[in-house]
Amino acid sequence: MNIDVYRKVQREFDLKRQRKIDEANRKKEEIYASNPQLKKIEDEMNVLALKITKNILNADEITRQVESENMSMKLKALDEKLDIELKKIGYSKDDFKPKFDCKICEDRRNCKKRRYN
Ligand SMILES: [Zn+2]
Repeated sequence: MNIDVYRKVQREFDLKRQRKIDEANRKKEEIYASNPQLKKIEDEMNVLALKITKNILNADEITRQVESENMSMKLKALDEKLDIELKKIGYSKDDFKPKFDCKICEDRRNCKKRRYN
């Protein structure tokens, strides 16, 4: 294949992939905008995730382990809470995931297992 054609095709695929991601994000934003309780849970999860990252720098190993377990449990609880809240309004987290053609490489096209259209 001519290199320019190859690049053009590759770019088309990238755009298609990005559109799917944008679409999923837009759907999520729409649902979150009308359901602020979901946004609140996700904000809490983001704060917690940041704390987990910072905890890695904790000098004391025992504290670090205990904190890590505590925060992982909290994060799991929040994740379950989010699932429950989503179910209440008839959604699941999968609804916010981009609908990729290939689940393995998520349309990055670096897997050999699937033939692309
Ligand atoms: Zn693939």
